[in-house]
Amino acid sequence: MKQHVIIIGGGLGGLFTGAILSKEGFHVTILEKNAMIGGGLQTFQRFGEHFDTGMHVIGGMQPGENIWKLCHYLGILDSVKIRNVDDECTDRLYFAEDKSYYTIAKGRDGFVRSLARSFPDEQRNLERYVDAVLAIADKVDLFNLRPSTGQISLFAESNDFLMAADAFIAKYITDERLRSVLAYMNPLYGGRAHETPAYVHAIISTLYIKGASRFVDGSYHFAQLLSDVITSNGGQVIPGNAVEWINVVDRKVEYVRTKSGKQYTADYYISDIHPCTLIKLMDKKAFPQSYRERLETIPNTHSAFALYIKLKPEAFPYINHSEYYMTRYADVWNFSRTDKPWPLGFLMMTPPNSHQGRYATKVLITAPMPFDMVKRWENTSVGHRGTEYEAWKTKCAELLLNQIEEIHTGFRECIEAINTSSPLTIRDFYGVKDGSICGFAKNCQNIVLSQVPVVTKVSNLLLTGQNNNLHGFCGVPLTAITTCEAILGVNYIINKVNACAE
Ligand SMILES: Cc1cc2nc3c(=O)[nH]c(=O)nc-3n(C[C@H](O)[C@H](O)[C@H](O)COP(=O)(O)OP(=O)(O)OC[C@H]3O[C@@H](n4cnc5c(N)ncnc54)[C@H](O)[C@@H]3O)c2cc1C
Repeated sequence: MKQHVIIIGGGLGGLFTGAILSKEGFHVTILEKNAMIGGGLQTFQRFGEHFDTGMHVIGGMQPGENIWKLCHYLGILDSVKIRNVDDECTDRLYFAEDKSYYTIAKGRDGFVRSLARSFPDEQRNLERYVDAVLAIADKVDLFNLRPSTGQISLFAESNDFLMAADAFIAKYITDERLRSVLAYMNPLYGGRAHETPAYVHAIISTLYIKGASRFVDGSYHFAQLLSDVITSNGGQVIPGNAVEWINVVDRKVEYVRTKSGKQYTADYYISDIHPCTLIKLMDKKAFPQSYRERLETIPNTHSAFALYIKLKPEAFPYINHSEYYMTRYADVWNFSRTDKPWPLGFLMMTPPNSHQGRYATKVLITAPMPFDMVKRWENTSVGHRGTEYEAWKTKCAELLLNQIEEIHTGFRECIEAINTSSPLTIRDFYGVKDGSICGFAKNCQNIVLSQVPVVTKVSNLLLTGQNNNLHGFCGVPLTAITTCEAILGVNYIINKVNACAE
């Protein structure tokens, strides 16, 4: 008899966890609230174009890397459509404060060489910094798909590991501007000064030093590939089926009920939704009060305001790297702060399609934004937020367009149509507290607070997704392995993935 698993939420974490468990012989049912599965992999259609919502730059997909191997084990690798960014320019950064541009090249040597061009006196320091970054990432068994010794390697061995990321950079780098340049990926992972641990900075940096990619023809096809693994193994993935109640008796889930009124029972229940959203779906007594209070106390990473721009035909070039706009060097750690003028910066990219030519058809702009900026509309729902909100969104879009004009003069002329989304959109579409883009923030001053294990005090309920460990295209699938191994045994999946890659 197959054991049954119900997964609440068909985002990246739910789909990876479901795909792995279904391949290992479980009967998996995924219940997804939205009409479309995928969570951060979801796309939407506007002005005749498909736009990605939460997966623009992806890491871990270079041959032999962790997510590449995981896709190989799941049998989907050959169907994943990605395009690598340019080796000599994976990212281009612009700091408005002194109108300076920096380009980043791929690989350890490329990274050092490209930045040493602008900071020649820091060449040796850059080498020491990159080696320290790579050394931290090398220590994490899961990141390297190494069988775990059972010890919590996260906290072991290196002094650099748990220091604050800004202090870690300053330990190796003397030049103040270069310190800020090295923190340019903060918008992607919610880096905060004095709080974000160096290991978070190191893992994200390592991923992209090794090589970044983008989905071709949108991220949704990847959700579909994972869903196909589940259905081809006899499972089901059901969109438009929000879980509204989880019945827990004596610390055990008895059933979940969806909005349609249907009850589902299983041997295991796995939640891919934000833990603060999860506990609202069950009786207060399901978890100890201390656990619930702790979850509510953990700060979340910042949210974002986004522009989805359809371009006029043959008006703007396709750019095969990401572009980061930063206002001031000192503000690179301040994206979560509400006492700063907005916007402090943004990520700009042109998503590729399978017949990509010289020109881009669309541009995505993602600008970090604290949730407090939309708090006055927090009790509204999609499509009913009022004219004041719409006017505010238009103003935000204008501010961003002004900044884009600084790095691409004449950009406004290339625009055919613009759609915008705010932190409220992210909150309501993904069901994420405060519209956070990466979920719970890690704080090296109180690292235990943000460590939420995948096993819970409710014996047959496990967690998966970005809040348990790291976020994003690499972090979430790795946590899916941890969740599956909580059922199947330590190293069970890692050994299979490695055996498959040999
Ligand atoms: C604007 C933005 C840009 C980003 N850019 C990148 C990037 O470039 N690269 C990168 O690696 N990461 C990026 N991320 C982060 C990445 O999208 C997330 O880390 C990842 O998608 C999280 O996966 P998850 O499975 O934990 O959650 P999600 O993907 O959010 O999945 C949760 C799912 O649960 C569903 N759900 C919620 N409540 C219920 C319920 N009651 N019943 C049933 N289903 C429910 C939601 O609809 C959703 O589908 C970005 C995120 C955002 C918001």
